[in-house]
Amino acid sequence: MLSAEQKKLKFNRSISRWFYNHQRIYPWRKTKDPYKILVSEFLLQKTNADLALDVYKVLIREYPNPFLLAKAKVNNLRNQIAPIGLSYRADRLIKTAKQLVYEYNGQVPNNRKDLLKLYGVGLYISNAVLCFAYKDRVAIIDTNTIRIFGRVFGISSNNKRPRTDVKLEKKMENWLPKRNFDMFNYALLDFGATVCTAVNPKCKKCPLNTICDYYLAGTKEEFIKSSSHKHK
Ligand code: SF4
Repeated sequence: MLSAEQKKLKFNRSISRWFYNHQRIYPWRKTKDPYKILVSEFLLQKTNADLALDVYKVLIREYPNPFLLAKAKVNNLRNQIAPIGLSYRADRLIKTAKQLVYEYNGQVPNNRKDLLKLYGVGLYISNAVLCFAYKDRVAIIDTNTIRIFGRVFGISSNNKRPRTDVKLEKKMENWLPKRNFDMFNYALLDFGATVCTAVNPKCKKCPLNTICDYYLAGTKEEFIKSSSHKHK
């Protein structure tokens, strides 16, 4: 039986190793430009990253900075976002761009207090910008990462909207490595999207299946069931 510290170490190593071989490559991961990262995070909300990719390329080509985005025609932007749905994001993007231009001199803030003042920016987007653009060591709490921590460690939230739970965020932050935490956050996002999925997680092939509470509880149950069948 592993101690809590050993389990944490195994978790971090396994996720990092898995990411090395399976990471998904997207243009917003290759930049440190906070504006581009902010735009990508708006597009990634409730949207598959592969689908968001084409729209992201169009928007960054047409509106490479907040000054141009602030002047965008809302109907044009809605049409550009339409292929991935949730076109209301067009209105949000323009409002946010205007805030950046008029209140922040065209710069994306580098602190949570100001980021959260931006229209449509909540804890998830603010942390994504802080981590991926400004290299702040903060946890990314979205449905994927919350699910992984819930299953492996049994960590959960009493909050109706766990994505906004600051206590949960702090707990998850404890698992971040001291270095390369941005890559680690990307790893968690990719792992949750492709291995530890909401439905039919790929437990049999999962590198965490020797330490995952959820999987181990399931196999224990199966073992008890199969033993009781044998004894009938
Ligand atoms: S063993 Fe299954 S539930 Fe546990 S982390 Fe892996 S995929 Fe997720």
